[in-house]
Amino acid sequence: MTVARHHVPNERKLSRNQGHVLSCLRKAKAPLSAYAILDRVRVAGISHPPTVYRALNDLIQLGMVHRLESRAAFVACDHGSCNGKAAFAICRECGKVVEISLNDKDERRLLALTPEEIAAEQVTLEIAGLCEACRPAKAT
Ligand SMILES: [Zn+2]
Ligand SMILES: [Zn+2]
Repeated sequence: MTVARHHVPNERKLSRNQGHVLSCLRKAKAPLSAYAILDRVRVAGISHPPTVYRALNDLIQLGMVHRLESRAAFVACDHGSCNGKAAFAICRECGKVVEISLNDKDERRLLALTPEEIAAEQVTLEIAGLCEACRPAKAT
């Protein structure tokens, strides 16, 4: 996965707490729940769940962190940051997440599936499967 550094907005302007939460998510190999994040940032002196939730919300607004609805967990954006128009492919075995960028056309096509009785607001698309490392070796 290439990291498009030029997309990263004001990373140096992040607050201390936001910085800790972001680097914790970047180091993680799998999505983390808010409590797993809290566990890991405790060493940095962050010990209150609301502090973690506030930092997460700010980072989500900045497009640097995304929430995986199906897992109630969080991942750092694969590209540093993006507009949040993304789908996710998740390995159900090890939790590896690969971000899939959606363009406006993709998003429109997905929103077009909405039945009339619901006014669409956002699309969440998560694909579950097995990553290369978790797929069983091919039978010979
Ligand atoms: Zn992203
Ligand atoms: Zn896997």
